[in-house]
Amino acid sequence: MTDTIFSKIIRKEAPANIVYEDDLCMAFKDMFPCAPVHILVIPKKPIPRLCDASAEDKTVLGHLMLVANQVAADAGVGDKFRLVVNNGADAGQSVFHLHLHVIGGRRLQWPPG
Ligand code: AMP
Repeated sequence: MTDTIFSKIIRKEAPANIVYEDDLCMAFKDMFPCAPVHILVIPKKPIPRLCDASAEDKTVLGHLMLVANQVAADAGVGDKFRLVVNNGADAGQSVFHLHLHVIGGRRLQWPPG
């Protein structure tokens, strides 16, 4: 896997507005937010896409969901937010380091584009 901007953020070589970090993951504010709350939750393990994850990633994948819950709650939208995972370029993925978008703080429409 080639290095991404998110790997640089994990290594603190690139700036980010970090809201949560532990041994397995990091969460930081999206630099182009699509809603008042838009936080990215990423594993420290460089999994490019969700479809590249395997059974050995079960713990970290579950952990990302729980951290998404936590950062949403900390941002004041704990009972009204959306999680998005874009998987692959045709689905809108632009950074090939797995990430969960935590989006909230406004009325969200359905279906997404
Ligand atoms: P995706 O299109 O699903 O791959 O989402 C990538 C997201 O990363 C986009 O919402 C970008 O705005 C965001 N992004 C890209 N570079 C940075 C960065 N350096 N810091 C914070 N967010 C970023």
